[in-house]
Amino acid sequence: MLSGINGYICNECATQAYHIVQENMTAPSSKYNGNCSLTEIPKPKQIKEYLDQYVIGQEDAKRYLAVSVYNHYKRLDQKKEDNGVEIEKSNVIMVGSTGTGKTLLARTIAKLLKVPFTIVDATVFTEAGYVGEDVESILSRLLQVADYDVKATERGIVFIDEIDKIARKTDNPSITRDVSGEGVQQGLLKLLEGAVVNVPPKGGRKHPDQDYIQVDTKNILFICGGAFDGIEKKIAQRLNTHVVGYNSVQHQQRIDSKDLMKYIVPQDLKSFGLIPEIIGRLPVLTYLNPLDRNALRNILTEPKNSLVKQQIKLFEMDGIKLTFEPEALEYMVDKAVEYKLGARGLRSIMEAVMIDAQYDAPSGKEKTFVVTADYARRQIEKSHHLVA
Ligand code: ADP
Repeated sequence: MLSGINGYICNECATQAYHIVQENMTAPSSKYNGNCSLTEIPKPKQIKEYLDQYVIGQEDAKRYLAVSVYNHYKRLDQKKEDNGVEIEKSNVIMVGSTGTGKTLLARTIAKLLKVPFTIVDATVFTEAGYVGEDVESILSRLLQVADYDVKATERGIVFIDEIDKIARKTDNPSITRDVSGEGVQQGLLKLLEGAVVNVPPKGGRKHPDQDYIQVDTKNILFICGGAFDGIEKKIAQRLNTHVVGYNSVQHQQRIDSKDLMKYIVPQDLKSFGLIPEIIGRLPVLTYLNPLDRNALRNILTEPKNSLVKQQIKLFEMDGIKLTFEPEALEYMVDKAVEYKLGARGLRSIMEAVMIDAQYDAPSGKEKTFVVTADYARRQIEKSHHLVA
């Protein structure tokens, strides 16, 4: 008999308890154990319609993402005996300046999916053996999301943000070791290609005493995003110098110099410092447009959980009807344009405008609150930290 604090358990019961616990721990997690058959999966058009509810504009990126995710499911669904035609995975890379909705797209699509999904930031990685995280920790996170269900993890989707930050720093790779740039790209390559990787279950560094979990990344879909600041220059250079080749003449005439991003090709990523092997493993290249005034205005009100809708809801919970005059919204957009923070700026502007009302209204008697342009202006002028 083993004695506890106020009871005993016999060896047989202890063994049985151990087995029950083991069984429960290795059982597939209920969250992801369903087979995602194609019939249950939304079609690309439906995926895009869903994205449209939350993300303004970015048509191209939405279409590319929708198709990639749908194909991801197709690949998971394919039968082994399909006369040798094997659908290869198409990892995605999205290029677009900060605050244009890359992470938002990834997060939104994650809500729709029935596979584990995680977002990681490429800036935390360094080459194995240096201070920082090893790239394998990406898989540790995915494992955690999947409740350590390895099968589910192997079908998951990973969004790697700020992939541009691991671009090669210099053109001459031999000068110094580039442990957070090319070194990480090499590490990442293995995961993107598909390999059986030893993953430290708790993340962090590898440790000789630790038990590893083996994860095959063959079917994990990687979506990368990055701002690639200054890549337009590389695109412009290429477009100017690249006069030979088919279609080039007609092409040259139609170049829209204000919006060069849409001409991005894999070669530009190479000029930016991604190694060709990585680019080869990210065959689906798409871009996000910078948000213009119109888009910012829509972002305030249109998405399902837009900033305006959120504020209205907050006041509603106190029984107060909140309204924004259109001029007030225009004013906020003007400020966002002025601060050059894209949609990110809208949030802090909204907070600055609403903070006093949020503080006072719940204990006041008024049952309505109208935000006028004048009110918004006064509030912004008061909040000095926002004035750039
Ligand atoms: P990044 O491109 O840098 O990843 P994010 O997706 O994190 O940008 O965007 C920051 C915030 O700005 C989002 O949380 C969202 O509120 C807003 N936002 C950005 N782009 C859009 C968009 N196209 N539609 C709606 N909201 C957007």
